[in-house]
Amino acid sequence: MASNLRIALIRGDGIGVDVADATVAIVDAALAKVGAPSFTYEDIQAGAGYFKETGHDIEPGGEDRAGEMDAIFLGAIGLPAIRHTDGTEIAPHLRLREIYGLYAGLRPVKAYPNAPQRLADPRAAEIDMVILRESTEGLFYSAATHGRSDIRGDTEVRDTLRITRETTEKLHHFGFRYAERRKERGRPGRITCVDKANVFASMAFCRKIFDEIAPNYPGIEAGHNYVDAQALDLIRRPWDFDVMVMENMFGDILSDLAGGLVGGMGMAACAEIGDKVGLFQPAHGSAPDIMGQDKANPLAAILSGAMMLDYLADKADNAQLSDAATLIEDAVADGFEANALRPMEFGGDMGTAAVTSELLSRLR
Ligand code: ATP
Repeated sequence: MASNLRIALIRGDGIGVDVADATVAIVDAALAKVGAPSFTYEDIQAGAGYFKETGHDIEPGGEDRAGEMDAIFLGAIGLPAIRHTDGTEIAPHLRLREIYGLYAGLRPVKAYPNAPQRLADPRAAEIDMVILRESTEGLFYSAATHGRSDIRGDTEVRDTLRITRETTEKLHHFGFRYAERRKERGRPGRITCVDKANVFASMAFCRKIFDEIAPNYPGIEAGHNYVDAQALDLIRRPWDFDVMVMENMFGDILSDLAGGLVGGMGMAACAEIGDKVGLFQPAHGSAPDIMGQDKANPLAAILSGAMMLDYLADKADNAQLSDAATLIEDAVADGFEANALRPMEFGGDMGTAAVTSELLSRLR
């Protein structure tokens, strides 16, 4: 039975297609297991391959159609050899982020047993944190794709870092609520505002709004850290952090650093959430070096699929969807624990199909 929940499915390019297909299979299995009806997927063509064929980076009306669905799932977009005439890569997903105001970029970072750990300290096994990256303004407000750089000939270029009260209030509320939700699931209930408030007025403003909002959430321990100290602490004691909220560029950098602590890009799940629209995608790209070889680790995409289920559980007020998300997360954790998930990305013997079928067998 199909539910009335509709997902815009943008498979995209390279391994994006494989990991998106794997995610659909796993999400369907989890829904069936909890007795919930399956989703209706509506394909939207987009990406570098589509651009090469048609001259468009997304099918006509694709952005509107995507925004009308209950959620958007995206595999990966872009191929280095196919570019616009100005040399920039094909990136319609950045436009979706802009159009739909997807300000809350969630990037969970969790250590799994038998997956690579880069730190020798045994406490590295306890790493379980989330970076909440503001994703519509900050320094990316001026990103080249938005055409907002102030280019003064060949002598000077100025990029603007923008922090607005409206977005920052929403961001911090989102962060505190997310910390509360994690606390219900056994995490410590802690949030750290990561900034550079000692140097920049924009960052002091961001911190001021954080401090204004904190008293609304008495059950959550709120703290601050300067971004340079946070980089150090992510190496020295990452196990002490829970939710970290930060400006766009800081989040871009620290989420790669944090992701590196627990493996690689194939584990990097991502959600981008706005007031009305949520987009879910692995944080990695289309990986042209391994495309078409069944070598991609689909877990980043699959864990992003679990985040989509959680998001829809709230949106549709349906606890079954949240149970389906937990089933997927537990299947991944148990699979690693039993050493039954051995992705090639980590030197193991399992390609995309084998990882997917192992998880499917755990969900049946
Ligand atoms: P983008 O800029 O589009 O995010 P990128 O150029 O940073 O992409 P990716 O496509 O993410 O690069 O690939 C970076 C490296 O990580 C490549 O060597 C790629 O093979 C590897 N990689 C990325 N995703 C996966 C995955 N799911 N499984 C295994 N390896 C991956």
